[in-house]
Amino acid sequence: MAGTDDTKRLPRVDLPADVRLDTLAVREGLPPSQYGENSEALYLTSSFVHPDAATAAARFANEEEAFVYSRFSNPTVTMMERRLAAMEGTEACIASSSGMSAILLLCLGLLKAGDHVICSQSVFGSTIKLLGGELARFGVETSFVSQTDVAAWQAAVRPTTRLLFAETPSNPLTEVCDIAALADVAHRAGALLAVDNCFCSPALQQPVKLGADLIVHSGTKYLDGQGRVLAGAVCGPAHIVNDKLVPLMRSAGMSLSPFNAWVVLKGLETLAIRMAAQSERALGLARWLEAHPAVQRVFHPGLPSHPQHALAMAQQNGCGGAVVSFIVKGEGAELARRNAFHVIDSTRICSITANLGDTKTTITHPASTSHGRLTEAQRLAAGITQGMIRVAAGLDDLDDLKADLARGLDTLTA
Ligand SMILES: *Cc1c(COP(=O)(O)O)cnc(C)c1O
Repeated sequence: MAGTDDTKRLPRVDLPADVRLDTLAVREGLPPSQYGENSEALYLTSSFVHPDAATAAARFANEEEAFVYSRFSNPTVTMMERRLAAMEGTEACIASSSGMSAILLLCLGLLKAGDHVICSQSVFGSTIKLLGGELARFGVETSFVSQTDVAAWQAAVRPTTRLLFAETPSNPLTEVCDIAALADVAHRAGALLAVDNCFCSPALQQPVKLGADLIVHSGTKYLDGQGRVLAGAVCGPAHIVNDKLVPLMRSAGMSLSPFNAWVVLKGLETLAIRMAAQSERALGLARWLEAHPAVQRVFHPGLPSHPQHALAMAQQNGCGGAVVSFIVKGEGAELARRNAFHVIDSTRICSITANLGDTKTTITHPASTSHGRLTEAQRLAAGITQGMIRVAAGLDDLDDLKADLARGLDTLTA
C-alpha cells in the first residue's frame, strides 16, 4: 500500500517477534483505540471520516494506509485478518462473507479464461460445483483427481495449469492428502497450491509451512467455533492478497461484516484449546466405535487403522481432528440406511445437522444430506455408503456422547 513512511501506515500491535500461536491468537490485531479497551472494539460503521480533502485523496489513492469504506477496509475486520494471518504464518489475509466467497475470490483473482485447475474429487461439494460448474462457464477448466494419489495430480498437469486445490482431511471419509508432495507438483508446473484448511484450522495444521502458497477458510466452522456466523478468508503472500485480492474485493464486494469478523476474532482466541478438546473427544469416540460389534468400519486419522495415519500425524501436529465417520453393520443398502437412521434418531444429545465445527456435537447421514445430490454410483465411487454416519465432535462430555450413540447401536436389528 503506502511507502516506507510509518506515519502513513496503520499501527501494529507491539509484540516480540518470536511469540507463539497461543499468544498471537489472543494478541495480534490492531492496537487499542484512544480509550484503551482490552477486548477488541466492534467498529460498526460503513465509512470513515477524513480530516481534510487532501488526506481523503491520499487515502483513496492508497498513498496513505487508512480506513476508508468497510467494503474493503474496517478495523474489526483488519484485526481478524491480521490475527488469522499470524496464526497461519502468512504475510497477509483477506476476510470474506463466507467460505465459498473466499474460494470465489481466490479463483477470480488468480484465474482467467483458458486456465486449468487440478482439484481433489473429495473437496467440499459446493467447491466442486463452483469449479466444475460455474467457473467452467467462464472458460476455466478443472480436472478432479484422487485425494490421496499424488501421481494422479502429476498426470493431470497441463501447460495451462495455474492452480492446484486441496482440502485435507476430506469430508466425511477423513482422507488425508500429502501437502508437501502436492506443493512440489504445483511448483514444478509453475502453478500455485491452495489448501482449504477448514477441517484442521491453523491450530493443527499450517499448510504454508509444508509448501502451500495459499490457504482458504470457512470461518463458519472452527474459527467461529460456536455456530453463530458465516465467514471466510484467504491467507497468503502480500503480493497476491494485498495486490490482487484486496483490489478485487473493492470491486466485487463479498465483504465480511464487522460484526461477523468480531465474532470470528474472539473465536480465534479459544481455537487451539477447542481443537484439542474436540479432537480428543473424536478420537475417544473413534476408538470406542472401532470396538463396537455393530460398527463395520471407523474413519478417523488418529486411528492406527487409518490408511494415512502416519502422514496425518506428521502433518496435523499429532492430532486427528474432530470429525469421525463410521459405517454401521447391515447387509445391503436398504438395511444399512435403516440402521444408520435408527442410530441417528436414537440420539438425544447430538444435533442432527450437516454443519460442523460447533461446540455442540453434530451428527449426519452424508449419503442423504451433504452428498444427497450425487447419484448412487458417484457416492459409491466416493466411498460414501448408506450405512455411513458422520459425527463432528463438539465439547459435549465423551461418556455422554458414547451413551448417545450406544442407544441406537445397541438396539440394531441384524
Ligand atoms: C463449510 C465449508 C466450506 C464453505 O464454507 P461456507 O462458510 O459455508 O461458505 C468450504 N470448505 C469446507 C471444507 C467446508 O466445510
